[in-house]
This record gives sequence, structure tokens and C-alpha cells, in this order.
Amino acid sequence: MSLRIVVCVKYVPDATGDRRFADDNTTDRDSVDGLLSELDEYGVEQALKIAEASGDAEVTVLTVGPDDAKDALRKALSMGADKAVHVNDDDIHGTDVIGTSAILAKAIEKTGFDLVVCGMASTDGTMGVIPALLSERLGVPQVTLLSEVGVEGGTVKGRRDGDAATELLEASLPAVVSVTDQSGEARYPSFKGIMAAKKKPVESLDLDDLGIEADEVGLAGAWTAVDSATARPARTAGTIVKDEGEGGKQLAEFLASQKFI
Ligand SMILES: Cc1cc2nc3c(=O)[nH]c(=O)nc-3n(C[C@H](O)[C@H](O)[C@H](O)COP(=O)(O)OP(=O)(O)OC[C@H]3O[C@@H](n4cnc5c(N)ncnc54)[C@H](O)[C@@H]3O)c2cc1C
Repeated sequence: MSLRIVVCVKYVPDATGDRRFADDNTTDRDSVDGLLSELDEYGVEQALKIAEASGDAEVTVLTVGPDDAKDALRKALSMGADKAVHVNDDDIHGTDVIGTSAILAKAIEKTGFDLVVCGMASTDGTMGVIPALLSERLGVPQVTLLSEVGVEGGTVKGRRDGDAATELLEASLPAVVSVTDQSGEARYPSFKGIMAAKKKPVESLDLDDLGIEADEVGLAGAWTAVDSATARPARTAGTIVKDEGEGGKQLAEFLASQKFI
């Protein structure tokens, strides 16, 4: 039977855009364009590499997100994934990480999987905890933060580069892995890939399809609440010090005043 790989990809607000919170302290998605999280492109790349090495694998990309999250799925499909699953439901608005992991886990179970591949963190929430939560919810091992990953038979093997040591890790399939931005450059979609992606299947699921009640997720079901959010003040012009022989001293004084030294 072919190797079933599910890659979790998140549609995130463009970090170069003007990001802000809406009145209910959730991300204002209307004020900024979104895109496939750059860190999840590494996950797609590694999944495609594993599929190519296996010769008999199917790569499904999965997202939980609003209508526009389809753009993230299309990008992953144009890179070479075979099919996509989009979980979208108005009641998902305001869901925290606990709820997001519950939705992802149900969708992964429904899709069927041998290997789940995640990024190391999203570029907006940046918690980096979804892989561990999925491992717990799916009842399978996790091997996270890998800078190298491959599948041999029924085992996933990888390398995790830490500050003090390099670990070689492995787990039996089915399993969850996350890969870092050191795992290898993600490929650019080719023109052929972009055209082919338009015809690839995208399955849409809502909470009902996954057997999840609306009050288990959304703002009502969230374990945490954002009480308030204050925009960071606009940056002010810096101080320019002309070096007329005292520049070094003034620089040192400035650094000391800011408690950098
Ligand atoms: C419509 C919507 C509204 C939301 N509103 C809120 C809110 O108001 N408050 C709040 O706290 N949270 C909210 N969330 C959840 C939040 O945006 C994050 O998705 C969630 O908390 C995961 O945390 P993270 O991004 O830090 O994930 P991390 O743990 O940093 O992500 C690690 C990896 O998990 C996978 N992953 C993470 N999120 C997704 C996803 N959505 N789809 C597919 N793969 C994913 C990716 O592979 C990613 O690289 C909302 C989510 C959605 C979809």
C-alpha cells in the first residue's frame, strides 16, 4: 500500500503587510493579504522528497483556515502535492491552539495517514506546539525539529541539530514529524506544476464532517482569551550622532543608557 503523507500547512498573514487585531482581539484577516507560511514550505518539500524516494506515496496537504486559505493549498499543490483538504467553518473563528490541534487531528484521521509532516512553527502564532499536540491526539510517536528526514521501510529517521549535540532519531510509522528551515531549500512551483495544480482535488470539510461540536472550538471553546491588544507605537526617527572626535564615547553612553552594556 502506498505511503500516505499528510502535510499540515498554515495560511498566515503576510508579515510584510500591516497586521492588526480586529475588535474581538482576533487577527484581522481582512486588512492584510495571506500566504502559505514560509516555514511550511519546508514541510511540503520534505514530504515531496520522501514521496519521490519511496516511489509509491501520496502527499495530501491539509489546512484549517478561512476561504482564502485555498491559496496556501494551491501553492503546495503547485509544488507537487497530490491532493488537498481544506477545513473551513465560520465557527472556527477564534479557535486557539488546543482547538486547532483537535480539528487537524480529526481531519488527519479522516484522510488516513502513515506520516504527518509539520513545519517547525507557524510564522504568525509561532508556538511550535501543534506537532506535539497532534502526536498526543493521534496516539503516535513524534520526532520534531528535524533538519534531515527520511523514511526507510516502516520507520521515519531524522537528524535534530541542537546547540550541544546532534541527535539521530527514529520512530515507527505512523508518526508525526516537524522539520526546520535547515532541512533544505523548498522548490519553486514550475509553470507545469501551477497548471497541474488547478486540476488537483481539494476536499472541503466543515466541523460537522469531522464530528466536532461548534462549542468545542471557536472563541467559546478556547482555553485562553486575549483580553486586550495594543498596537505597537510607530517607530520614531533615530538619533544621529555626528562623530567630531567624541562619537565612540557618545555611542557607549547611548548603549549604557539603554542598558545594552
Ligand atoms: C480561522 C482561524 C481563526 C483563529 N483565531 C484564533 C484566535 O483568535 N486566537 C488564537 O489563539 N488562535 C486562533 N487561531 C488558531 C491559531 O491561529 C493557530 O492556528 C493555532 O493556535 C496554532 O498555533 P500556531 O500557529 O502557533 O502553530 P504552531 O504550533 O507554531 O505550528 C506548527 C505547525 O503546525 C501546523 N499548523 C499550525 N496551524 C495550522 C493550521 N491552521 N492549519 C494547518 N496546519 C497548521 C503547521 O505545519 C505549522 O508549521 C485561529 C485559527 C483559525 C484557522
